[in-house]
Amino acid sequence: MTDLRTVIAGAGGRMGQANIRAVAATPGLVLHAAFDRPDSAAIGRDAGEMAGAGRLDVLIGENAEAALDGADVLIDFTAPAVSVLLAELAAPRGLVHVIGTTGCSAEEDWAIQKAGSAGARIVKAGNFSLGINVLLGLVRQAARALPGYDIEVLEMHHNKKVDAPSGTALMLGQAAADGRDIDLGQNAVRVRDGHTGPRAAGSIGFATLRGGGVIGEHSVILAGDTERIVLSHSAQERGMFAAGAMQAALWAASQPPGYYSMADVLGFKE
Ligand code: NAD
Repeated sequence: MTDLRTVIAGAGGRMGQANIRAVAATPGLVLHAAFDRPDSAAIGRDAGEMAGAGRLDVLIGENAEAALDGADVLIDFTAPAVSVLLAELAAPRGLVHVIGTTGCSAEEDWAIQKAGSAGARIVKAGNFSLGINVLLGLVRQAARALPGYDIEVLEMHHNKKVDAPSGTALMLGQAAADGRDIDLGQNAVRVRDGHTGPRAAGSIGFATLRGGGVIGEHSVILAGDTERIVLSHSAQERGMFAAGAMQAALWAASQPPGYYSMADVLGFKE
């Protein structure tokens, strides 16, 4: 099989650079193009040199359509409105579109899913790490096994992160809600401030911390009257998100058009 010609969106970003390094290190993928928005300082630079992967002779451009010309795969960790636009470009080209962008509204998620049915092979995940995807299963199980325990999801990220709670925190909350057969939207408490009254039984609470360069810390706390279980994950470098995104791209290349999750890629069953 020839190498999959891979395009990196948001190439100058934190994940964009990790994804460039990962493409360069992954057999079966070759960097085809990289782009960012027109006012990015990354425009015109060699993608490999900027990302610390050595010269790759691919200059970072500002035109998504030109970058996608002749491509097989688009890796997209950008921003919600950008990912919706890119999904519309990926669908008619039948691309593999791996989306790591978080903070999408329900409408944006719906627009992206529609592109899956229009020809793209989309893998979208709020977290591409193997560990978090294992943790989701453990949280579902624990929430089901401990029905009377209060569930709180705590997360901390770096001070540049723009959405809260994190996509991963919401996925963990969803896993807990699935374990309890309840609707997350109806039971989530995303902010507490002032005189809140006692905790509502059965609710799933979220707490968000921001600071420094923290890549991603998540804990799910199940608190009973006499004991407390804490299930935690700590991301130590962005390379593991990128490695998961590459695994998703290689997997999706042999799937029919559609909308997939990381659980599909990893073969995790309920
Ligand atoms: P970042 O701000 O460092 O990078 C985003 C990049 O997108 C920037 O270079 C920006 O210029 C670029 N961009 C913005 N508009 C664009 C456009 N119109 N065309 C092309 N490029 C454009 O952010 P980051 O830390 O790399 O995170 C990016 C996204 O990935 C966030 O939503 C974050 O939450 C998410 N993320 C997901 C995972 C995961 O495993 N799913 C892991 C880490 C981060």
